Amino acid sequence: MKDLKELKKIEKFADQCMKCGFCSFFCPVYQEEKVETAVARGKNYLTKLAIKGEQEFTPEMAEIIGKCLLCKRCVANCPAKAQIDRVVVGARAQMVKEKGLGFVKNFAFRKVMADRKAFGRYLRLAKAFQWLLPKTEGNIRHLPDFLKALGKGRNIPSLAKTFLRDMVKPVYKPQNGETPKMRVGFFMGCATDFVYPELGLKLIDFLTKRGVEVVVPEAQNCCGAAIYFSGDFETGRYLANANIKAFDDVEYVITACGTCSSTLKDYQKYLPDNEEEQKRYEAFEKKVKDSLEFIINILNVKPEELTLKKEFEGKVATWHDPCHLIRYQNIKDQPRAILKSLKGLKYVEMPNADLCCGMGGSFSVYHYDLTKKIADKKMNGIKATGADIVVTACPGCMINLIDNALRNKMPQKVYHLLELVEG
Ligand code: SF4
Ligand code: SF4
Repeated sequence: MKDLKELKKIEKFADQCMKCGFCSFFCPVYQEEKVETAVARGKNYLTKLAIKGEQEFTPEMAEIIGKCLLCKRCVANCPAKAQIDRVVVGARAQMVKEKGLGFVKNFAFRKVMADRKAFGRYLRLAKAFQWLLPKTEGNIRHLPDFLKALGKGRNIPSLAKTFLRDMVKPVYKPQNGETPKMRVGFFMGCATDFVYPELGLKLIDFLTKRGVEVVVPEAQNCCGAAIYFSGDFETGRYLANANIKAFDDVEYVITACGTCSSTLKDYQKYLPDNEEEQKRYEAFEKKVKDSLEFIINILNVKPEELTLKKEFEGKVATWHDPCHLIRYQNIKDQPRAILKSLKGLKYVEMPNADLCCGMGGSFSVYHYDLTKKIADKKMNGIKATGADIVVTACPGCMINLIDNALRNKMPQKVYHLLELVEG
């Protein structure tokens, strides 16, 4: 008899759906595809059949379960609060259990991303050859035809000249020389490490200026978002355990990446196999804070105390809510409070601020055409504001917003909120 271990874990969540179809108004994938299999209700129905042993994980089923951004718009707007994200991830985990990961994901997840040193080596190699990719604008490069499997014509930022891991010290003491208010661990995240290292340095500087001691454990690893959201729970658990160990002796774990913070907080939702693991993951989750949440809610920095950097004076800014901040962590007021109180900056709310940008991690690799259609709606919202700059707090969203703004020939530049703030 088939072992339905991963599916059994999500049965109670699959039973929450009452088939009302309300989610169809909010699901970005359904809004483009208009087929029942695109929406939460359809995915949930098929997964329930799989739980009963009446649906196999055929290539068609894999396509349906794979075509979800995990944006949680369905969950946020569901009258029954059905947790379809858990159902989708659980179905993917069952699929991996039955069919394996396939060569590409197996190599990428287990041989590259799970091995921090190897990941760095591969990207150093890629950096040496990135000059082969034509530049679009500034440090943005263009994926040529021979890399079209990653998204034909996609604009991607250059890899940084020096990776953050090669710049940071293991410990940063408070700049005022006084006894630290608290000791926090800085979690880099891959995009900050390899693409936006200045963001990591900025956060360290910001915190140490305010009396915090920041440690940067070398033993930290990738947060695992793309890995366990793809259903590779085995590698996901390996990364979770490595990160928990690496940040064992700090009060808080802080990151400037919305996807990383939500993933580190999500270990206990998806990965535990037993009660002991559940407790360990839950305890870790309590320590994890996104940078904006930490600055406003823990460090108690008043938004009005913050100063706008000179280069942004007179600009009009709008805010994009990363799914991993607004729906996974309920972080929506902190960035708005900061943006509205920065003197010299005008804030305009965009009409669809909480709409997913279409990235969805590896979703955009497999469904780039769909990503572009979803992103076009986000771009229309940005255009409606007349803003000069788009501000967010997730490097993954930044990469996708930059690509789509360039594709739509829009003038707006994209920034992480920390980049706007002085000191
Ligand atoms: S997921 Fe929620 S909104 Fe969608 S059909 Fe089920 S109960 Fe209704
Ligand atoms: S998580 Fe997002 S993409 Fe997936 S079914 Fe729900 S609304 Fe649709």
